[in-house]
Amino acid sequence: MSPIRSASKRGIPASSPSLTPPPDLQSKAAKKPRASKVKVSPAGKKVNDQAKTNGTVATDDIKRDDDDLPPSRPTKKPRGQGKLWPPTELDPSDHPSRAGYPIYNLPPLQVPRNGGIGPIDDVGNSKRPHLLGAHVSIGGGPATALLRASKAGANGLAMFVKSQRQWKSNPYEAEAVQRFLDLSTSKDLGGLGYPKESILVHGSYLINLGNPDKEKWETSYQCFKDDIFRCHQLGIGLYNWHPGSTVGMCTKEESYASIAKAINRVHGEVPEVICVIENMANANSNIIGTTFHDLASIIALVTDRSRVRICLDTCHLFAAGYDIRTPETYRETFRKFNEEVGNGYLAGVHLNDSKADLGGCKDLHENIGLGKIGLSAFRMIMRDPLFSGIPLVLETPAPEKALESGELSVWTSEIKLLYEIQGINDEEWVTREGEIEKRWRAERDKLNPPKEKKVKGKKSDEDGNGKKGKGGGGGGRGKGKKVKKEEDDEESGCESHTD
Ligand SMILES: [Zn+2]
Ligand SMILES: [Zn+2]
Repeated sequence: MSPIRSASKRGIPASSPSLTPPPDLQSKAAKKPRASKVKVSPAGKKVNDQAKTNGTVATDDIKRDDDDLPPSRPTKKPRGQGKLWPPTELDPSDHPSRAGYPIYNLPPLQVPRNGGIGPIDDVGNSKRPHLLGAHVSIGGGPATALLRASKAGANGLAMFVKSQRQWKSNPYEAEAVQRFLDLSTSKDLGGLGYPKESILVHGSYLINLGNPDKEKWETSYQCFKDDIFRCHQLGIGLYNWHPGSTVGMCTKEESYASIAKAINRVHGEVPEVICVIENMANANSNIIGTTFHDLASIIALVTDRSRVRICLDTCHLFAAGYDIRTPETYRETFRKFNEEVGNGYLAGVHLNDSKADLGGCKDLHENIGLGKIGLSAFRMIMRDPLFSGIPLVLETPAPEKALESGELSVWTSEIKLLYEIQGINDEEWVTREGEIEKRWRAERDKLNPPKEKKVKGKKSDEDGNGKKGKGGGGGGRGKGKKVKKEEDDEESGCESHTD
């Protein structure tokens, strides 16, 4: 049996039938997956030797040769879709090769290893690739996120699992689930090679599990559970969301307990998926998660700690007052994280530069190296074995149209840049940093020209519940919606305010 055929037999995870889905999902979730699948076959496509131009060396897992090229686009039209699958603009045979392991050996890990969910081998973190990727759109179905990530040359990715702007969405069709399962599987089995440890789902922005209002909490919980159920259906292991806000109506301690209650309850209602709490930017507000203390306090109340992790967003970290710009401040910030939370809980990073100053408490994402954090911090992350083997996800500004056309040029360039600077030694870095930043800024300006800053009357919304209803970026934005650049930047990937 060919690997491609065997991949198609995997279907929905075996544990699904034992799971009681949320009520509105039961009819569809019970539907048997179709036996047919996306037909994939190796394509005799040219190999773009990106690894060399990046100054990186691909390994067996990551590199692409004639035997592990991505699937070509079938000519068959799937039932009911009326569209070619995969979409023409995401045709896997056009994807670049993916760089992976660094050209030098990462230094031995001097601190406890991260909490990544990939297989642990005897070589430890030093031989794992940094799973660089971006938050990509699911427009066209969840499997398109894998195609977009692959097109950007990513080794990891983030995605929403439904519209992040509404409480309820239609359940998945079995075919959409099957496509995702087929494409996420290893290249040996005909997929694109996105294992569990490389995908970090981002939850709905509407969810606030810190809200003391019982009714609103329950509405949030059902949305949270639905997100996590969808992860389970897709075989995804890591679900990241914004912990919530007190909305000024309770103490932070009470919110920690409400958030932990949701985590404990969902652990009993949906199997396997790990809840990954994201750190937030808005220190000195009602928002939970702006300090390591907040994160540790929630974890302390979780019963099954094997199913809770942390995602650190570098922009949020910096805006909340944790400096990572110099070797000294970088070491100190991550020493504190290990001391207060524990490296063993770290399972993902959102890699974003910041337009806001250190401690500015504003969630304003910027392209890597072009904001207030600067390239050196990102190079340190890329050369630190603490961050290998876990998804490192860009939520940086990209042209809106790119999210719909599948043109992912800004992220493709950022991924290349990060792998490039990973391979530059300290001595060389001192002389080359300025030149590389200048080159990259010019490239970014060409790919996504900066626009005039618009003064916005947008007010922080910490008090409502579900009234805001606007989309957050990161690739999941709805079709055809025009969003001004400044809003776009602010919403790229992570909104900090929850209702
Ligand atoms: Zn984020
Ligand atoms: Zn986020």
